[in-house]
Amino acid sequence: MALRMSTLFLRTLREDPADAELPGHRLLVRAGYVRRAAPGIYTWLPLGLRVLEKVKGIVREEMDAIGDQEIAFPSLLPKEPYEATNRWTEYGDNLFRLTDRKGAEMLLGPTHEEMFTLAVKDLYTSYKDLPLSLYQMLPKYRDEARPRAGVLRGREFIMKDAYSFDVDEAGLEAAYQRHRDAYVRIFDRLGFEYVAVHADSGAMGGSASEEFLAVMESGEDTFVRDDSGYAANVEAVRMPVQELPADEAARAALEEGVPAAHVEDTPDTPTIETLVASANADHPRADGREWTAADTLKNVVVMLVHPDGTREPLAIGLPGDREVDAKRLEAQVSPAEVEPFEAADFERYPALAKGYIGPGVLGEESTTGIRYLLDPLVTPGSTWVTGADEHGKHVFDLVYGRDFTADGTIHAATIHEGDPSPTGQGTLRLARGVEMGHIFQLGTKYAEALGLKVLDENGKLVTVHMGSYGIGVTRAVGVVAETHHDEIGLVWPRELSPVDLHVVATGKDAGVLEKAEELTTALEAQGVSVLLDDRPKVSPGVKFKDAELVGVPTILVVGRGLADGLVEIKDRATGESRQVAVDEAVAEVV
Ligand code: ATP
Ligand code: MG
Ligand code: MG
Ligand code: MG
Repeated sequence: MALRMSTLFLRTLREDPADAELPGHRLLVRAGYVRRAAPGIYTWLPLGLRVLEKVKGIVREEMDAIGDQEIAFPSLLPKEPYEATNRWTEYGDNLFRLTDRKGAEMLLGPTHEEMFTLAVKDLYTSYKDLPLSLYQMLPKYRDEARPRAGVLRGREFIMKDAYSFDVDEAGLEAAYQRHRDAYVRIFDRLGFEYVAVHADSGAMGGSASEEFLAVMESGEDTFVRDDSGYAANVEAVRMPVQELPADEAARAALEEGVPAAHVEDTPDTPTIETLVASANADHPRADGREWTAADTLKNVVVMLVHPDGTREPLAIGLPGDREVDAKRLEAQVSPAEVEPFEAADFERYPALAKGYIGPGVLGEESTTGIRYLLDPLVTPGSTWVTGADEHGKHVFDLVYGRDFTADGTIHAATIHEGDPSPTGQGTLRLARGVEMGHIFQLGTKYAEALGLKVLDENGKLVTVHMGSYGIGVTRAVGVVAETHHDEIGLVWPRELSPVDLHVVATGKDAGVLEKAEELTTALEAQGVSVLLDDRPKVSPGVKFKDAELVGVPTILVVGRGLADGLVEIKDRATGESRQVAVDEAVAEVV
């Protein structure tokens, strides 16, 4: 049945929504695809839902094609499995927690490794049951610190998450490759430019991990690539650490006896546990609450090395008001609440603006993003700064003189445009993207924590090897909107358009509407889905504007030309239009 503008639950808006900072988001709201229900929480209206269903259809087809089986877990989950893996704590404020009437603590699922692991444990016992891959496509809940650009970063969003179960590592590698191939097919079909980059496996605790980033100027992730095909999330690039500051100014400072310090990653890099303990001992919170691992994770873990060789672990946090206070460093600041970076921070820290250091929050489910408080590190005498994440990985280093000076100016951070590539082939280029998919070889982390073992051929119990594979389904709609529009509206790729054809009937002549109806029926009989603008009292100008805003790739205009037996076919993307004989219209657009 054709959609009709006269009855469709849709009101297009001429005004931009006040909270929308990106054009795709503005257009999705103005064209009546989504409505905001609360920050980061969106209602899908008829047109939006159709696009969403198309994305789901593509994902489902490709997952089914590799033999993954779709199941559906609840979103409302018990706390215990997430306690067993420590994610109840690790997730920190990102987790939506609730308590039922009997006082049992529960959560809204942010991702479902635990539940899938337990389901397989529940039903399977033997290596003969494996390999197995399962997936679902349902809402996830994360209380994101900074919901952004509508459906691009929601607090409720749909993720396709798949999990593979194999008896050994070779099986896992094969499953990973199979999912990777399916992802390539999915992202090819979704029609935006993307790259697969090496990623830090972060909190997921796995070995191999890649992200699929939609290439987008306004994306939050920075990646590098060289000419050999190497591409990596900037956080995953490991540049060689320099032994000593090569810089003259820094050397001079050292010789003059300026108290120099550098911060480095060492085996002594404190663990979260020691940091939590020392934070509670040395820096009790004003409100009397205890620091938790989640608080600490939000903060940078670094090691300060003094000229005399003494070492001090530091946890540096950015206070909620984002006022940087160098004294806090001198006072060995304690973990503090950290807010996400805002535009002003990017102006303030050129290194951030250049994307050398990505905004992110340790303690989020993705701990690869690390937020650095740069000002305090840029104190006179600091010579070398290396950050570490909570796994103790080296993340970046800043060299006095080269990267920053005593007045606090940061020239650059570790990775510069044009730096030699770690592959040894060519130089690095920096670009930005949006994380659309993430695949992990989890190994045995979750199976171990939750006791998922099967009997092998020799009757011995072995721990199952798992992989996890996510795609942002609602985010995909946001990315397509951001990458497929012009100033006047959306321009959907054919495969994702809410309908195949937008038929606009113009003019007061009753014969026009009759003809448009007739064409619509004929087109639908041929399998072409139609949105028919049959509104009787709306001017042609308004109808055209709405059609351009809504963004169906082909528009068929039935109007004045009908008197001469002609209709017009318009291409939304190019704006080109041509007249065709009304009798040929169906054949022309099918
Ligand atoms: P990001 O780095 O953007 O916060 P993530 O690394 O936390 O994403 P994963 O845990 O890897 O996300 O989840 C798998 C996929 O789910 C992501 O690749 C992304 O496409 C999607 N996704 C994650 N968070 C959101 C969100 N808040 N809104 C919409 N989609 C999301
Ligand atoms: Mg991420
Ligand atoms: Mg995240
Ligand atoms: Mg991720």
